[in-house]
Amino acid sequence: MADKFLKRENLGRLIDSVRNGGARFVAPAIDARQAVYRAISGADEVTWDYILPRNSFKDYLFPQTEVVAEYSIGEGGVEIRGRELSPKDTVVFGSRPCEAASLASLRSVFTWDSVDEFYTAREDKTTVVTVACTNGDEACFCTTVGLSPESVAGSDVMLRETADGDFSVTAITGRGRGFLSAHSAAFEDSGSGSAQKPLFVPEKIEGVDISRIKERLARKEHYDDPVWAGLTRKCIGCGACTFVCPTCHCFDIIDEGTAFEGERRKNWDACQFDSFTLHASGHNPRDAQFKRWRNRFMCKFNFYPNKFNSRGCVGCGRCIRVCPVRLDITEVMEEMSR
Ligand code: SF4
Ligand code: SF4
Repeated sequence: MADKFLKRENLGRLIDSVRNGGARFVAPAIDARQAVYRAISGADEVTWDYILPRNSFKDYLFPQTEVVAEYSIGEGGVEIRGRELSPKDTVVFGSRPCEAASLASLRSVFTWDSVDEFYTAREDKTTVVTVACTNGDEACFCTTVGLSPESVAGSDVMLRETADGDFSVTAITGRGRGFLSAHSAAFEDSGSGSAQKPLFVPEKIEGVDISRIKERLARKEHYDDPVWAGLTRKCIGCGACTFVCPTCHCFDIIDEGTAFEGERRKNWDACQFDSFTLHASGHNPRDAQFKRWRNRFMCKFNFYPNKFNSRGCVGCGRCIRVCPVRLDITEVMEEMSR
């Protein structure tokens, strides 16, 4: 049963309440004719007309580029100054269940072995308000990877749209309950009684069997399977699939500046780039695009599930929508299920 109700016309009140409390309100907005997550200052900027924003909200937990330290070299030697982190409280509004589920994967990798506080400090200050899916497209496949349009994993608050366009609101976590109480003036105790709008439930892709994929990837001989080169021949290595993917997390550390002073930066990287595994010697163990693609697929369906017991792919379909050559990961999943 819902805890509260949100009238669509009261979104502005919610945004004001969040921002007056000093937090950032991030929601889907139209930018260059596409819905993207961005920091919002008023309800008129928010769009409801989206399946998933083009970018992932990981941008707000794991920025594309950030300074992690500064260095200078003087007469007293080398001085390294770590960057103090004081992340802003953030509300991500309008997330989808598939994307919220990706938080478990990101958390696993950023706390594996050592804790990357640049990620965890931000996630700890983020409240995720998810809206269950009432629309979708042919690229959505959450049900094939064991999720659904109303999965609650990773969400603090779940909204379900009613037939009259308002929302029933359920707190999922303690943080979600705190959010409802802190912004109670924006919510109603009871709704109009209108029925819930039907959910968009993607059909499970026939012929895809995740356990069969895992089993096949666990066998070493699949590395030499010629099927990889055939399936991924058209990939141009642009990396767009990794940048929009909510679970992709690879980064590089580089120093920018002079020999005497500068910044150490953490920048997104992508396993689809040919320089990703290029050694200083010139040797590249993934010296062909199909090997790079095979690695990404392995990451999703072997490394993540085996190492972290979490999903490497949440079935959001972003990589399919954005790929300039329409390389469809579900086609590879079908082939790997055979
Ligand atoms: S691999 Fe593709 S479908 Fe899977 S989570 Fe990443 S972007 Fe979404
Ligand atoms: S978006 Fe498409 S072309 Fe670009 S790296 Fe990914 S699979 Fe290859």
